[in-house]
Amino acid sequence: MPDAPPADAPRATYPMARKHRLAKAREIARHTGAEWRAKKRAANGICFYCQRHVGPKGGEPDHVVSLNRGGSDGIDNIVLCCPACNQSKRDTPVDEWIAWAERTGFFTKPRRWETA
Ligand SMILES: [Zn+2]
Repeated sequence: MPDAPPADAPRATYPMARKHRLAKAREIARHTGAEWRAKKRAANGICFYCQRHVGPKGGEPDHVVSLNRGGSDGIDNIVLCCPACNQSKRDTPVDEWIAWAERTGFFTKPRRWETA
């Protein structure tokens, strides 16, 4: 029988399908539809990141720590986010992305729904 690999051996990491990541995250915590609706109401139409009104699309749930980075699907890891922030942030670590957004003026750029 082969020896077990040492505990500190680097483990292979393969990109998992989103479905599998979500399933894994939900083993730890999973938010309910009611929790999301309450969170969305409390956010009052304001994007968690850029603090602007979310526009006609009404905002989207965003995992602050993305599922790809081991974030949970629990309500504590979910915020209301505008489409522009959500599309820009993707799987970037949140601190890194906010620093980038502040540095580049991303948060103050006009949004599509504001300029239309
Ligand atoms: Zn935003």
